[in-house]
Amino acid sequence: MKKVWIYILLLLPLGVYAQNAEDARVFAETITVEDLKDHLTIVASDAFEGRETGTRGQKIAAAYIKAHFESLGLAGPVDSEYGDGYYQRVPLYTTRSGDSYLKTGDSRFEVYKDMVSWGQSSTGEEKEVELVFAGEGTNDEIDGLDLEGKAALIMGDSWRSVLRGGAGRLAKAGADVVIGVVHEDLDSWSEFVSAVRPGEGYGRLSLDKPSFSEDLSGSIMLVSPDAAETMMGMPVEEMKSMIKDFKPSKRHPYGKVKTNPVKIKTEQMAQLVKSENVLGYLEGTDLKDELVILTAHYDHIGRRGEKINNGADDDGSGTVTILELAEAFVKAKKEGKSPRRSILFMTVTGEEKGLRGSDYYTRNPVFPLENTVVNLNIDMIGRIDPKHEDNPDYVYLVGSDRLSSELHEISEKANETFTSLELDYTYNDEGHPDRIYYRSDHWNFAKNNIPIIFYFTGIHDDYHQPSDTVDKIEFELLEKRAHLVYYTAWILANRDDRVVVDKVKDTTVEER
Ligand SMILES: [Zn+2]
Repeated sequence: MKKVWIYILLLLPLGVYAQNAEDARVFAETITVEDLKDHLTIVASDAFEGRETGTRGQKIAAAYIKAHFESLGLAGPVDSEYGDGYYQRVPLYTTRSGDSYLKTGDSRFEVYKDMVSWGQSSTGEEKEVELVFAGEGTNDEIDGLDLEGKAALIMGDSWRSVLRGGAGRLAKAGADVVIGVVHEDLDSWSEFVSAVRPGEGYGRLSLDKPSFSEDLSGSIMLVSPDAAETMMGMPVEEMKSMIKDFKPSKRHPYGKVKTNPVKIKTEQMAQLVKSENVLGYLEGTDLKDELVILTAHYDHIGRRGEKINNGADDDGSGTVTILELAEAFVKAKKEGKSPRRSILFMTVTGEEKGLRGSDYYTRNPVFPLENTVVNLNIDMIGRIDPKHEDNPDYVYLVGSDRLSSELHEISEKANETFTSLELDYTYNDEGHPDRIYYRSDHWNFAKNNIPIIFYFTGIHDDYHQPSDTVDKIEFELLEKRAHLVYYTAWILANRDDRVVVDKVKDTTVEER
């Protein structure tokens, strides 16, 4: 008798594991190419208008996800203070220019027509300021140039290079206003202006309501080539050759340029943009107070004029994976195989606007962060990147070993046992210039020392383009990758102990 008992006891852990693995396999079969395709064909259709945060398209997408969670019988866990069951309200802010203009001599340049204005300055009245030409705003060019309290005009290849490079250096050197001119011709200027005009989608959004000051300092403006020529009293071509011929000398070459003073009025206003995270909650059993969170962002960058950015891969692929994961775990529970820990299926908003929805959730968690065991986050897992054209059975994993060695082992084991994908850790390298660990929603969990894994299949030519469409999705591969997330979540939700955080990080790492 005794001997037999010992024998059974020894076999038990292995038996439980094998049984568990068999159970896991049964419900994985509900995550299928057909279902993923059906969902994505809808979510990434033109009817969803590119799912821009705060717009009709995003609301339609949220309603679709909510209806799916509801039909599965998932609970909507958000209380009325923060939302409505499945929706967690996420208030976001954008800045709009009101009556803003720029004058030189008899010419007047209007906002959203000849110029665009950013920054915290809202003067409310006209202010006169001296204009200085500052080339491309390089350190050499700035050196020896008197910019204190002035408006500096710079040129760049693209508005990004002006805003990110020169503008910061000029402000540091004392310029109150930075005026950038970037576009080589008026056609591309008018295209740019129509893209940033109110009603044409939002750029970055903020969780904090912006505040404004009455002085001019901190103003950044972009102007049309025409406006720049009038202000400078010379053609753009001449400005370009001045930059080309620039050599540091005793008498600064730009200091010789005669310019007229400009008169500027700025009026900036905060505008509320309402969006929602969509949450579906599946209660666990004996470990139900602990939580596994599965996330993907469901909104995208909307439309630009007539062109719709469908975002089939970004992040339609992650969104429909969450829908399928929810279905699989619900079925398991219905058939008596409930996960022991609770699972929160959350499609988040505002990822494209600066990871806002996940930031809001972690600032206002529906379930205590201390009880949140892990976050598995998915963003773009439906394509093959150039590196893997010949070996497409892969997925990039980021972050699995950053906070918990155990999580990394579980993830590897899940893949080895069930999916046999090539796990590519290229982007997990701490020195990788793309800094993917900080660039999607998992970061907001990781910075709270919650272990995360990020699933990603890389950047492609259609990234953030109207050509990111459903017909380019590799559904067979999407299914395999979805299976890996599912099995990993299954193990994490069912194992006896929560994963141990053994590598607590200093989370003051700067976000860029
Ligand atoms: Zn994305």
